[in-house]
Amino acid sequence: MANRILEVEGLKKHFPVSEGWIASMMRAVSGGEQDVVHAVDGVSFDLLEGETIGLAGESGCGKTTTGMSLVKLHDPTDGEIRYRGTPLGEMDETELAGFRQNAQMIFQDPFESLNPRMTVYDTIAEPLRIHDVGNETARVRRALEFAELQPAEQFFDQYPHELSGGQRQRLAIARAIVLDPDFIVADEPVSMLDVSLRAGVLSLLERMTEEFGLSVVYISHDLSLLRHMCDRIAIMYMGRIVEIGDTGDVITDPKHPYTRALIDAVPVPDPEADRDRVTLGGEVGDAIDVPAGCRFRKRCPSIIPPEDIDVDQEAYREVTDLQYRLEDGTLDTDSIWESVGDPNRSDLASFKRELRAEYLTRGLSGTNEDVVETALQQVAEGDEEGAAETLDERFASICERTDPAVERRADVGDDRRVACHLYESDGPVAATRRGEDGVAADD
Ligand code: SF4
Repeated sequence: MANRILEVEGLKKHFPVSEGWIASMMRAVSGGEQDVVHAVDGVSFDLLEGETIGLAGESGCGKTTTGMSLVKLHDPTDGEIRYRGTPLGEMDETELAGFRQNAQMIFQDPFESLNPRMTVYDTIAEPLRIHDVGNETARVRRALEFAELQPAEQFFDQYPHELSGGQRQRLAIARAIVLDPDFIVADEPVSMLDVSLRAGVLSLLERMTEEFGLSVVYISHDLSLLRHMCDRIAIMYMGRIVEIGDTGDVITDPKHPYTRALIDAVPVPDPEADRDRVTLGGEVGDAIDVPAGCRFRKRCPSIIPPEDIDVDQEAYREVTDLQYRLEDGTLDTDSIWESVGDPNRSDLASFKRELRAEYLTRGLSGTNEDVVETALQQVAEGDEEGAAETLDERFASICERTDPAVERRADVGDDRRVACHLYESDGPVAATRRGEDGVAADD
């Protein structure tokens, strides 16, 4: 089995929320803790020699922060990254220099990542000089030719602004490979390029992977691109990996409801194609005040009702949506009272009717209906907190109470890891690593 280049274990990266000096002083006086953004919040996976992994997810899911941590542009808040077995945090200066030579990053926007005052030649020669690598001109020429910027000499004295967008990204690739690194993190490498230029740059990246025997971590929201480029794919949501496995398996048979929704959002050439599409509603949750339980539960179309109550899935989703609105304080009772047209707010029956029409269109029965009626009465009387508690007591699901680990699940393939209670846990395994047999390990 191929060697592990990187082992990422429980990686966390939190950023303090910037605050003004008054807020900072008030907090110091009150002894409160500063808010933090949980950008990456417990990510584990490994990267093998010659392997390509894709990190996917909506904007803000933590994929770029993860990628930047891999090349040590961020130091972890917690957890560990090991490069060929050595933790980055324990490296001495010589080891760190070696690591920096072997770990390169290609950024989304080549114009921003390239120094506008450096010529093409100096842009590529700079890393050679930093790492005291000889044979400079020959290496610069070779890197440029590899990136199909040729004849190389014609580009030597040009500046980034004199190049087209595609040429600039080729220059960034030439700079990344000139030190012959072990691995590259490519963050949305073609998303800023004109569609007509993307295929050319992608085929260059593929050639780079093959010819240099590189491991690559691709970061992208574009699942079609990752499907084409990656051996494995990790789907991230709110700073966590929620599903990881072989790319073909994950794309053709997604297990996590979030993965399914992402795939369903990819346009298909045939609009009549027979697919039960899942539409993903709502927005990514608050990365400061992270919800308990499953982080996807507020948007999940498959949220699991408690075992002991019999309720239709869609009716259940409506009730939990109402509960979360009450908890978040996002239920707009003023507009409901306005539609009731009762400035004294005494017609509680009409208020409840309007509330149901807006949020609870599916019928419930028995105790479920009684509990909802009690909660609506509480809302009508202005006790939103009490109403949320009433609903929570009856309807809280395992998805709300227990944070699902990303791990092997009994009813999912052996080499897949999923963080979802829809699948039975198969024991506490470090879910996202690969073992000696090339599949996930139990370590
Ligand atoms: S754990 Fe529950 S809420 Fe989370 S993805 Fe699975 S079914 Fe949905």
